[in-house]
Amino acid sequence: MFNNLSDRITASLKGLRGHGRLTEADVDKTVREIRRALLDADVAVPVVREFTARVRERALGEEVSKALNPAQQVVKIVNDELVQILGGATGELHFAKNPPTVIMLAGLQGAGKTTLAGKLARWMKSEGHTPMLVAADLQRPNAVNQLQIVGERAGVPVFAPEPGNGVGNPVLVAMNGVSTAQFQQHDVVIVDTAGRLGIDEEMMQQARDIRDAVNPHETLFVVDAMIGQDAARVAEAFRDGVGFSGVVLSKLDGDARGGAALSITGVTERPILFASTGEGLEDFERFHPDRMANRILDMGDVLTLIEQAEKSFDQAEAEKAAKKLASGEDFTLDDFLTQMQQIKNMGSIKKMLGMLPNMGQYREALDNFDEREVDRIEAMIRSMTPAERNDPKIINGSRRNRIAKGSGTTVQAVNQLLERFKQAQQMMRTMGKGMAGGGMPGMPG
Ligand code: GDP
Repeated sequence: MFNNLSDRITASLKGLRGHGRLTEADVDKTVREIRRALLDADVAVPVVREFTARVRERALGEEVSKALNPAQQVVKIVNDELVQILGGATGELHFAKNPPTVIMLAGLQGAGKTTLAGKLARWMKSEGHTPMLVAADLQRPNAVNQLQIVGERAGVPVFAPEPGNGVGNPVLVAMNGVSTAQFQQHDVVIVDTAGRLGIDEEMMQQARDIRDAVNPHETLFVVDAMIGQDAARVAEAFRDGVGFSGVVLSKLDGDARGGAALSITGVTERPILFASTGEGLEDFERFHPDRMANRILDMGDVLTLIEQAEKSFDQAEAEKAAKKLASGEDFTLDDFLTQMQQIKNMGSIKKMLGMLPNMGQYREALDNFDEREVDRIEAMIRSMTPAERNDPKIINGSRRNRIAKGSGTTVQAVNQLLERFKQAQQMMRTMGKGMAGGGMPGMPG
């Protein structure tokens, strides 16, 4: 996400380091570089203009000339201004006083609406809501079916047109969907609507008709972050044609250059509420302007990482592991497997590593990171017998052969896993002793 933009802005800010005081020429050079990086990332021209003017003005002002570390102060200014163009404070969804809260999705075909409907429903559920999905996209042949699949994966019911119940009439389907949700006491209804490949009047009219029929509390405009420059234009057309209260950026995982994220709020004055970062239902996060700015400046996003961990970690398992560790019991391959599964629940490991600060320098290693490595390790452990998992010392040559065959890997890979596990076990022993003694892990006494 935003790799190129991030690399270029951080490189240009690094160029300021070591300058005791900043001259106007220093500031202008940096501002010029940032402007070029933003334009190359497809950020809308008026947004770039305003951003660079603000940064320049502040960088030449007192807050920098009086700062102990002027270069650091400029980084702070760029960070502040990035937060501003990303929308300032984190946007909130508004829930209706009298449920159900109706959320309508709008956007071009292929923007990621149907996928988003499933992600949003899953997220709502995890927040304690009882959402229902409504399939009012009757334009695309497979859309209803796709929503049903997504709903099933999210564990959320889907209202779809039935023969004689409004087939071919999305407005009627949307209305029936909402009244069914109300009757069945769902507190949130998410209405998926049709998109077209391009903006056209007929599509806008249909979206308006659905809007007027169901009176949504929130209309979310879903936009593919990969469409770059066009994002701002499409967003304006939807704002004027249908109107929307919030934005969802989809496909931020690709090599989205950042243009859409950085332009949309400035152009439409509507907050970005969520980001979609992959094809899986778990590839979804709330959009926090401050955290996104930190990511662009390669300062990491540890808060999102922690939140994702909290949501996907099984508290009972974690406590069991901690107790075991403190009791001095050995960490086994089965424990290792459980931990790996918990980490896998959080989604892509690559994405998680990318949220750590200063990862820009490891970008190549990160790009080459193979997610399937985790699956291979899992397969190897699953190919071991309970006795082997409990006491890996008994895994001799012929056993290694059998495990490699059973897991579709190589003996070399098995050797490597066992070696790494031995080291991890050693480390756990030291930590366990520390915990049992009430001291810090690894500290004597
Ligand atoms: P709709 O026409 O707006 O309903 O779009 P879909 O939800 O059908 O999505 C279009 C395509 O984009 C599908 O192949 C999705 O799997 C894919 N897609 C949706 N969201 C994301 C995302 O965040 N990242 C990636 N990589 N693909 C996505």
